[in-house]
Amino acid sequence: MLDASSEVESLGEYLVLIYYKYVRIEEPEAYASEHFTFCKSLGARGRIIISHEGINGTLSARAEEADQYMRSMNDDPRFTGMVFKIDKVNDHVFRKLFVRAKPELVTFRVDRELDPNQLTGKKLTPTEFFETASQEDVLIIDARSDYEYDLGHFRGAIRPNVRTFREFPDWVRDNLSDFKDKKILTYCTGGIRCEKFTGFLLHEGFQDVAQLEGGILTYAKDPEIRGRMFDGKCYVFDERISVPVNQVEEEVVSKCLHCGTPSDRYINCTWDDCHVQHFSCPECSILMNGACSVQCMEQLDLALSPL
Ligand SMILES: [Zn+2]
Ligand SMILES: [Zn+2]
Repeated sequence: MLDASSEVESLGEYLVLIYYKYVRIEEPEAYASEHFTFCKSLGARGRIIISHEGINGTLSARAEEADQYMRSMNDDPRFTGMVFKIDKVNDHVFRKLFVRAKPELVTFRVDRELDPNQLTGKKLTPTEFFETASQEDVLIIDARSDYEYDLGHFRGAIRPNVRTFREFPDWVRDNLSDFKDKKILTYCTGGIRCEKFTGFLLHEGFQDVAQLEGGILTYAKDPEIRGRMFDGKCYVFDERISVPVNQVEEEVVSKCLHCGTPSDRYINCTWDDCHVQHFSCPECSILMNGACSVQCMEQLDLALSPL
């Protein structure tokens, strides 16, 4: 076991960086292409969104180049102090590099501008979040999509019935309007979605709104809390698909779509026209050829059979 972990140490020459900052960026298009060239020169891969309201990225690079990236970003007055969540890995977690200019960092189309630098919920450290979440009479809302919740979430959190972030405003108006006087806690992967989500809640008239600063990824690394009260794994948007959170009480909360046994293997349906992400245990994956349904498996068989 010792050998295995020291091997991981020495193999962990790559870093994954996850980061964001809400800050005014003039000419996002021009900056995106400049930033692409810079990342390319570092051999970095990943997905970075640039918008007039800031930057949001996940990238993987060799440790030295990742370091250089962080230093160079910190030297830019716009991004000074930006927090990087860092993981050691053995290889890239992306196949390519994308740097795109978009109208919003996270698509949350409401009829007004929401600027987290103007209006956002109170920020809680992992310890504060843990303590508050343990109290009664608190409403914990997962600010992510349903398929992220299904892989893992805080115990007792409400599962939003949304597939994308932009569906949140309607979902809140339809489901939570009676809870405006309650104490509300929200969380997301790295914190970026909550900053807008809590601003929206305050704007809608919710009185007491707080968010987990740095999201689940920061919570998972807190040496005191060690991920307690989070069940399952945290969904991430790179080839890893998930990262562990709870180092004290491990539990699988998701079930194989086919046989119902606990499984956190999230795979895409192998039928190209479907591609739906679903949980499948190793045995069922073999039986089903990686398809999500009998229909998809039949399509696969047809496509594979010789004419
Ligand atoms: Zn199964
Ligand atoms: Zn399918």
